[in-house]
Amino acid sequence: MAPGAPEVDRAPRLVRDRPALAAVRAALPGPVGLVPTMGALHAGHRALIERARRECASVVVSIFVNPTQFGPGEDYERYPRALDADLRVCEASGVDVVFAPDAATIYPAGFSTSVDPGPLGTVLEGAARPGHFRGVATVVTILFGLVRPDRAYFGQKDGQQAVVVDRVVRDLGLPVDLVVVPTVRDADGLALSSRNAYLGEDERRAAPVLHRALQAAAGDHARGERDAARLRARMQAVLAAEPLARPDYVSVADGLTLEELDVVSGPALLSLAVRFPSARLIDCWPLA
Ligand code: AMP
Repeated sequence: MAPGAPEVDRAPRLVRDRPALAAVRAALPGPVGLVPTMGALHAGHRALIERARRECASVVVSIFVNPTQFGPGEDYERYPRALDADLRVCEASGVDVVFAPDAATIYPAGFSTSVDPGPLGTVLEGAARPGHFRGVATVVTILFGLVRPDRAYFGQKDGQQAVVVDRVVRDLGLPVDLVVVPTVRDADGLALSSRNAYLGEDERRAAPVLHRALQAAAGDHARGERDAARLRARMQAVLAAEPLARPDYVSVADGLTLEELDVVSGPALLSLAVRFPSARLIDCWPLA
């Protein structure tokens, strides 16, 4: 751009297959930041993109609703897909490249490898959704291989996912630095999520109960409560006051191993999953 020329939004390059991505990637100035998403982009995704934009010379956003991280009977088919709107968000946020492959590009004929994150992938969300984190770890590893980012940006919103991906990166020695970005919330505390679109009006009004439960327990922790059972009970009590919310689990776990704690003595993760009639929502809160 000529000095003094007005800055204009430039449409990101949209690439859909591996050869096109390799060609575009080869010409990107580093450091390259990758923001992996499943699309239907909202202000939570935008926070990751904006952070990457500030920290990296080039920003790649991947948009891929990954079939292998959905279980039978989950919402893979009805998961919101909105590529045109997503491209506009990416353009307005200064993204350089959007990688939007189809399933056969990520999993070509003969594909047979998977990345299993072990016990970290079998607790919490992994217990409720068997195979979910094998799907996540596998697709993230493929994306890292194809995009070769210097940095990759993940949301605190999916706290267990960030812990799992960090473990995979360290175990496999992948040359990428992870950045975890704080959760973006609506004014009433509800964490932004593409799945919030499933909620009816009453459910949407009830949904901030997840945040209230986390805040109640985090407040107790800040005032010195270290008994994990009492922190879990506190979250359960807040959730119990909301008739539309059916808790799946509440957890107070070690921040690195995700093992359930008796006593909170270091970095920990409060997390919960709650079923509403139309959607299952998750949220979490890190304790330093
Ligand atoms: P998804 O498209 O749901 O797979 O999310 C893509 C990335 O955006 C993941 O790293 C999420 O953790 C992150 N993300 C989703 N919602 C939020 C949010 N409300 N705040 C911050 N990050 C988010």
